[in-house]
Amino acid sequence: MSAPLLEARGLTKSFGAVPVLRGVDVVVPAGSVTCLIGPSGSGKTTVLRSLNGLETPEAGTVRIGDVAVDWATRPGRRAVSALRDQSGMVFQAHNLFPHLTVLDNVTSGPVLAQHRDRAEARAEARDLLERVGLADKADAYPVQLSGGQQQRVGIARALATRPRVVLFDEPTSALDPELVGEVLRVMQSLAAEGWTMVVVTHEMRFARQVADQVLFLDGGVVVEQGPPSEVLVEPREARTRQFLQRLL
Ligand code: ADP
Repeated sequence: MSAPLLEARGLTKSFGAVPVLRGVDVVVPAGSVTCLIGPSGSGKTTVLRSLNGLETPEAGTVRIGDVAVDWATRPGRRAVSALRDQSGMVFQAHNLFPHLTVLDNVTSGPVLAQHRDRAEARAEARDLLERVGLADKADAYPVQLSGGQQQRVGIARALATRPRVVLFDEPTSALDPELVGEVLRVMQSLAAEGWTMVVVTHEMRFARQVADQVLFLDGGVVVEQGPPSEVLVEPREARTRQFLQRLL
């Protein structure tokens, strides 16, 4: 069997005196979808941000492809930046540049950060916009779009740098309920295309239908993990059961 595309081991992180991650492992095979679920404050977002160096854990390792960082050795900016280049991130709020068109938002990463050919990046961005259902909005500005459309642009922008892994941090939680479905459908189609995705989410239906594995976190540890048919349907751990029951 080939090595997993993403492998994080022993992630440990405190904010001040408060331990937030207490030795978290995340192992993600290429082409799979991993959902991180758990109560608010359990550490899900901190895990996700540790995978691309937006948080700096005190200990633990992260490897994506052949780029690895050992947090205990206090890696420098270059090493962290090399790790960050392996992933694309979709945030809770889209974070688009308001003064740029949709197309320029999507090409900003490849053109400004990666110095790729502008014409090629624009052609690729149009293709990505088509895939998120927004081909006709290339010349619009973010303010002219609905929240769901903005978030789909955010997804296209995350894909535009050709990341190995796409990290989603509660991508639908800031949206009006009627806009959630369109974003989840786009994510589902990306999963079907074979993108490797790690998703922090409260959308249990999405997790059940799309995830290959679910990690349930509580108190900074992975309490239970496995396919959704086990973790979400027949959880072994009492804490997982309690969490799921509260959602009903
Ligand atoms: P989740 O995503 O599961 O809601 P988080 O990873 O966001 O959990 O947060 C885990 C814990 O860490 C929470 O108690 C939160 O208050 C705390 N925390 C997160 N970010 C910071 C920060 N920048 N400074 C201090 N505490 C933080």
